[in-house]
Amino acid sequence: MARTARLLAAEDPPAVERSRPAAGSGLRSLSSAASGLWDWLSVIGTGVSKLEKALGDHFPEGERYFGLENFGNTCYCNSVLQALYHCIPFWEQLLEYYATYRNTEDTVDNLLTCLADLFAQITLAKKRTGVLAPKHFVQRVRKQNELFRSYMHQDAHEFWNFLLNEIVDILEEDCRTANSSPETITPEEVSNGAVNALANGAREGPLVTLVHRIFQGILTNETKCLTCETITAKDETFFDLSVDVEQNSSLTSCLKNFFSAEILNGEDKFFCDKCCSLQEAQKRMKIKKAPHILVIHLKRFKYVEQLSRHKKLSYRVVYPMELKLGSMSEDADCEYSLFAVVVHVGSSPNHGHYVSQIKSHGNWLSFDDDTVQISGESTLQTFYGSSREHCGNTDHGYILFYERLGGKS
Ligand SMILES: [Zn+2]
Repeated sequence: MARTARLLAAEDPPAVERSRPAAGSGLRSLSSAASGLWDWLSVIGTGVSKLEKALGDHFPEGERYFGLENFGNTCYCNSVLQALYHCIPFWEQLLEYYATYRNTEDTVDNLLTCLADLFAQITLAKKRTGVLAPKHFVQRVRKQNELFRSYMHQDAHEFWNFLLNEIVDILEEDCRTANSSPETITPEEVSNGAVNALANGAREGPLVTLVHRIFQGILTNETKCLTCETITAKDETFFDLSVDVEQNSSLTSCLKNFFSAEILNGEDKFFCDKCCSLQEAQKRMKIKKAPHILVIHLKRFKYVEQLSRHKKLSYRVVYPMELKLGSMSEDADCEYSLFAVVVHVGSSPNHGHYVSQIKSHGNWLSFDDDTVQISGESTLQTFYGSSREHCGNTDHGYILFYERLGGKS
């Protein structure tokens, strides 16, 4: 207890106050809607938890810290769910969605409603801590995707991709069936070509869902013909950046490599429309629109041809608490603050465990399936990786979640 108090007192005030807004009228109306949930989701926690004792008076008002039960290698799912729950903009929007769909007559049961039910159950829990069994959600994941049906170790990043894309599909489908006039991306927000200008001047663009608003960024891919110097730009959207890792490096250097200029020559020559032929060219990527939440996947699982299998790279990659994109982004002042890390534990891609480290109200907490504990900022350094291969520590930062500072999106 005393040690915890000292730990908390010693910490500097957080650079960004990441706290949940007080429950508004919309959220308060959730309580009645949620009552039915308790029938099919069981709550296991009892009494005053160790975590409550440890946080004491520092327990954030209105906050809930719930562990998630593991249903046989479902830590890949639990670790990502915790990062998402503690991603405040996502949590807010999902509860808004929950309030809307709970008030409609139709009974919908899909991955998004299962996720919204789970978030609402945590948020509205009477207890501040405990353990939940996300059984309905996991069943839905398994129903939806064969890949996650087995009880084998899964890739948390693959799950993250699947979950986000699935949510987008559901929201887009909702929009189509509602036949309402969908919100579209404004021409300023989008790249040339992504918005289809219609003959009558009306614009029809891709739907903007809550996932797009929070996680989507735009990359611009510039290819410069080295003969005529014409620049061809092509934009693409992303929900996360998957970057290669190098031994004894930092996230910033990995990102710089990701965005560094590349010469296209030999067999990789570029077809220049102006020269009407294959030419040597210089290609480089830049972030055109930085997302509100920047998710970075460190490619630690690499296919090694000699071994004919994937290998885990335990390289030491230092990631900062505050990330500046600088010249990698068109908005050079773009700054981010780390709030969640999904950690892969284990030396092989096919076995192991996932936990997440999450910053909540200025405190770093460790979420390991059903266990939630205070960890502290210094713990994050233990997940950088090792400068030597075959080192005893096999816990490595795998997916990093950064929130944009300054409230811009
Ligand atoms: Zn050319």
